[in-house]
Amino acid sequence: MTDFTIPQERKVITPIPGPKSQAMHARRLEAVSAGAGAALPVYIEKANGAILVDIDGNQLIDLGSGIGVTTIGHTNAGVVEAVATQVQNLTHTLFTATPYESYVEVCELLNKHTPGNFKKKSVLFNSGAEAVENAVKIARKATRKNGIVVFDHAYHGRTNLTFSMNFKNAPYGNGFGPTAASIQHVPMSYPYRDPQGMTGEEAARRAISYMEKRVGVEDLAAIFIEPIQGEGGFIVPAPGFLATISKWARENGVLMVADEVQSGVARTGKWFASEWEEGFEPDMFTIAKGIAGGMPISAVTGRAEVMDASHPGGLGGTFGGNPVSAAAALSVLKQIEDGGVLERATAIGELLTRRLNELKAKYPVIGDVRGRGAMIAIELVEPGTLNPSKAAVDALAKHMHSNGIFVLTAGTHYNVIRFLPPLAISDELLEDALSVLEQGLAAL
Ligand SMILES: *Cc1c(COP(=O)(O)O)cnc(C)c1O
Repeated sequence: MTDFTIPQERKVITPIPGPKSQAMHARRLEAVSAGAGAALPVYIEKANGAILVDIDGNQLIDLGSGIGVTTIGHTNAGVVEAVATQVQNLTHTLFTATPYESYVEVCELLNKHTPGNFKKKSVLFNSGAEAVENAVKIARKATRKNGIVVFDHAYHGRTNLTFSMNFKNAPYGNGFGPTAASIQHVPMSYPYRDPQGMTGEEAARRAISYMEKRVGVEDLAAIFIEPIQGEGGFIVPAPGFLATISKWARENGVLMVADEVQSGVARTGKWFASEWEEGFEPDMFTIAKGIAGGMPISAVTGRAEVMDASHPGGLGGTFGGNPVSAAAALSVLKQIEDGGVLERATAIGELLTRRLNELKAKYPVIGDVRGRGAMIAIELVEPGTLNPSKAAVDALAKHMHSNGIFVLTAGTHYNVIRFLPPLAISDELLEDALSVLEQGLAAL
């Protein structure tokens, strides 16, 4: 992760967005559906490591990784080489017609590195939402039950089934037609906002009581949970929460599915965020975003007997596990195996957590600092209260954007700034970004 093709430095030479980006944006508004938004209409020409270069020649520090996708770093040398070689040899056959080895190898590595000491199998798709949809299908087939439980503040995707699993109706579901049936939302553990002193076990019992009363074990196929919630604002449940829910699920014949689309693949300093809590034993994992350095591929990995519950031909899709994406995934997974990647995520987490807590002590608009590894967030409030401050987030994000730092926001109340940098980022770039953040805090 050390040989960079673009100097790893922030450089702002025009207003952000610059004139070329503004012209491009006008063109886009004529051509592209208004349904696709733009957090920052700066058009990117190339990227490397942790730096985005826009069409005006500005260099932005990327603290978003395209929502946790380019975790290994933008245009990572290993990924670029793997893709370039693969594209000359084979781009597509359709795995369910005439298969190829890389698909099998990706599955082998995922079976090996997901937590759980039991025989696993995997199946590959294109996107996170597609993985979640298929995990729902598999869970229903394996249990012969229909009920699906999801949590407050959850995000699982934008297809009809997955938008029905999201906590927020707007902007994902509103106006887009009927939601899918048999999905129940139950309370999450949210240490910052739960009653003071509420333990993970107590929060789990609160959720379990909903499951027993609202759904009933008899009809409940699976519980889907993000071990650290992504779009919800990097909510880390209280210790004991995940283990208590998963123990209850096991005792009641309910499958536990960890949606690791955002938190997985080295992001939190472990292969998968589920490993952070002892006793949390998911039966299935959904995996996507960070797995292939920017190439589209996703997976469902789980207990072999569950994964084999589907009849042959029941799972698949034309592009799923595409050879070029699979080659990119193999490069990423092997780089993690080779060492240094998990350690870098941990070190980034330590630096961010320490520095953000210093800022929290100084600026009471920061109500909470949380997350794990290179998945850290600050939740902003009106000082002295728990009232969400979207205004502070908007002002800070704008300040950072105009100074050449791309950050993403999150949270049910849009009052969270999340730090999701490529692991290729240097301490110097992180410190630079934090100093700009502090300027913004001081100016609020
Ligand atoms: C992004 C995300 C999804 C959806 O993935 P897409 O690739 O955008 O379909 C699902 N679950 C979680 C936790 C996510 O963060």
